[in-house]
Amino acid sequence: MSARLLDGKACAADLLRSALARVATCASEGAAPCLAVVLVGEDPASQVYVRSKERKAAEIGVQTRDHRLPGDTGTDELLALVRALNADPAVDGILVQLPLPRGVDSERVLRAIDPAKDVDGFHPHNLGLLMLGAPRFVACTPQGCMRLLAAGEVKLAGARALVIGRSTIVGKPIAQLLVQADATVTVAHSRTLQLAEEVGRADVVIAAIGRPEFVRGAWIKPGAAVIDVGINRTASGQLVGDVEFAAAAERASVITPVPGGVGPMTIACLLSNVIDAAERRAGLR
Ligand code: NAP
Repeated sequence: MSARLLDGKACAADLLRSALARVATCASEGAAPCLAVVLVGEDPASQVYVRSKERKAAEIGVQTRDHRLPGDTGTDELLALVRALNADPAVDGILVQLPLPRGVDSERVLRAIDPAKDVDGFHPHNLGLLMLGAPRFVACTPQGCMRLLAAGEVKLAGARALVIGRSTIVGKPIAQLLVQADATVTVAHSRTLQLAEEVGRADVVIAAIGRPEFVRGAWIKPGAAVIDVGINRTASGQLVGDVEFAAAAERASVITPVPGGVGPMTIACLLSNVIDAAERRAGLR
């Protein structure tokens, strides 16, 4: 492998280390950072995500309040909980773990979160601020990708960046952040023609598709930076990204592994957003 590995675990550990002092300052100002976590139903993957978020929060002294609700919880009940958390002055951030069970109006629930507590950055208000170049909370996975590119000292100004995937929580905000970093950005999706050629022109490739090793290593432009957002489990139970890692690593200059790349950064950025909110409550920003 010739690419340098962009180590998300190490980068996340750095971010969390730097968060410790911020947490202590907030606490000394009477605004100990607190994240309310809402988990509905028994989805095993969601339970794993929530556990790891809560574990990392505990490691750096961010308090969490757990709200575990049965799978048959309805939209109105969830809306009532969100409104109560909005009104609770001790809660800085509200995380509603997705996906919500079928039958729940997820959009309505997410839009009910006070934008000032929307640490996931999914609320239209926060997405709008991001579009305007004046973000309050930047969605955690896109933010993590940008931090990894910065840690890898990847030059973005003037670079051709290709984002594969246009979801509201990953692809679109990443594309916006790359534009703001002066990259020339192309967004690809399932209707894109000649994806291999698009990849071959890109100095920076962000893959956020959800298909195992879909982006072939041979497509990668030699020297490109590759950020693999995808998390896919193969039939044999192995976790792989959206990029054919081994072959891509022979051509890229820097590349993120899966696991251990974007995933740990997402959690660290979530906690950083919670601390941002607590700092605002304490009048520190
Ligand atoms: P999503 O909402 O399903 O969006 C997938 C995107 O990929 C869509 O825009 C889709 O295009 C595009 N796509 C699908 N097939 C394609 C193809 N053949 N060629 C080009 N584009 C194609 O998924 P998401 O929520 O953005 O997540 C993407 C991946 O990232 C998943 O593996 C997810 O598990 C992972 N993820 C990881 C983290 C993390 O922390 N590491 C966080 C969030 C998500 P259309 O719009 O045309 O359908």
